[in-house]
Amino acid sequence: MNITIVGGGFGGVKAALELAKDDSIKITLISANRNFVYYPSLYSTATGHDHKESWVPLEFIFRTHPNIKVVYDTISTINPDRKTLTGKKLRYHYSKLILALGSVTTYFGIEGLDHYAYGIKSESEIRALQKHLFRQMGDEGVIDKSYVIIGGGPTGVELAGALGAYLQRLRKFFGLREQKIHITLVEASPRVLPRMSKAASKAAVKRLRNLGVKVETNKMVQSASAEGLMVSGKPIQTQTIIWTSGVANAPFFKQNAAHFELNPRGKVVVDDYLQARQNIFVIGDNADTPLSGLAQTAIHDGVFVARNILRVKNGEKPRTYKTKNLGVVVPIGHNWSIYERGTIRLTGALGAFMRDAADIVGHHDILPMGHAIDTWRAGMRPRLRIPEDLSATD
Ligand SMILES: Cc1cc2nc3c(=O)[nH]c(=O)nc-3n(C[C@H](O)[C@H](O)[C@H](O)COP(=O)(O)OP(=O)(O)OC[C@H]3O[C@@H](n4cnc5c(N)ncnc54)[C@H](O)[C@@H]3O)c2cc1C
Repeated sequence: MNITIVGGGFGGVKAALELAKDDSIKITLISANRNFVYYPSLYSTATGHDHKESWVPLEFIFRTHPNIKVVYDTISTINPDRKTLTGKKLRYHYSKLILALGSVTTYFGIEGLDHYAYGIKSESEIRALQKHLFRQMGDEGVIDKSYVIIGGGPTGVELAGALGAYLQRLRKFFGLREQKIHITLVEASPRVLPRMSKAASKAAVKRLRNLGVKVETNKMVQSASAEGLMVSGKPIQTQTIIWTSGVANAPFFKQNAAHFELNPRGKVVVDDYLQARQNIFVIGDNADTPLSGLAQTAIHDGVFVARNILRVKNGEKPRTYKTKNLGVVVPIGHNWSIYERGTIRLTGALGAFMRDAADIVGHHDILPMGHAIDTWRAGMRPRLRIPEDLSATD
């Protein structure tokens, strides 16, 4: 049996590893990126921690799985009648297909953001942000008037909690005089962490304020320029705008909308087996499921689809899909996190313990335990690497 998977992220990698347990299955995994990206630690890599925690080469993950073939290509079109996919390099035939393409950044059409804002969603975005910070402090000897993070979701809150300590380390490294660094977190909705409880939002704001971050809720970003930002009618002077808000489904589905039913947010409508069409499974961020948009959901979906494929192959009935909620944990500054699952809430060092456990489990989902712990520990090392050294392969 041949299975084709598109996407080398949480869902695609996990589905491939699960399917590979059956030697008779041949898996082709097509991915645009040579690395698996561990998104939850990108805020940490962006603030000077070892990048080994955030990107792991796919070849390393699959090195002991001869029945997984990895192909690097970007798929642009699908023809379900002919069962073909067209990539930038080649055309591929599939018999069963799993699509796990993840999400992309969107700026909601806000003027100037695509040009003036930095991001932390990829290696190249992180490199660009760090180059900017090094250039500002190192070459120009300047501390920005304000460092503005847009988006009060987990990524924005995590980054806001870690950025101050990183900037102070950079300041010392470049021998600039001691001074307060102004960090502002801007959120359009009435509270940060809107997917968590009100109590969690309150605890997060208190922690951020203790770390010196100014939290501005109910504020709409209107435009960005070389001078700064216009936020709810008021200008903020800054050369450092970091956009962590706005995710949209992978553009592939809109471009091939004739073959998929999309919900109003552009996610793919799937049946009880996560099938969008016969023999086409859609998982992770791409699927219209209640907990879509989380790494744990993509992993759960990958395992679910792979096991159902194996069940059917072995003459058993496939199971129907049920969501799995492991809770959410958001780190804010050193050794402090907020964990929430249902009515259980842990903050501070206990929350940080939950985050460490979640990261080890997250890495172990794709790597053997020894490598998972090494990778996780690498992320604990703060290093002031000059951005040119931020190589994906060293
Ligand atoms: C900065 C950040 C922090 C996050 N933090 C957390 C967190 O703390 N906890 C949590 O649960 N979730 C977190 N998330 C969300 C989580 O990372 C996603 O829900 C998860 O990655 C989704 O997995 P996926 O397999 O659907 O997609 P991804 O992991 O994004 O993988 C998609 C893959 O598809 C490939 N691809 C895309 N288009 C094509 C194409 N056309 N052809 C070929 N390949 C293609 C990509 O290169 C990538 O390899 C975070 C997300 C971001 C951006």
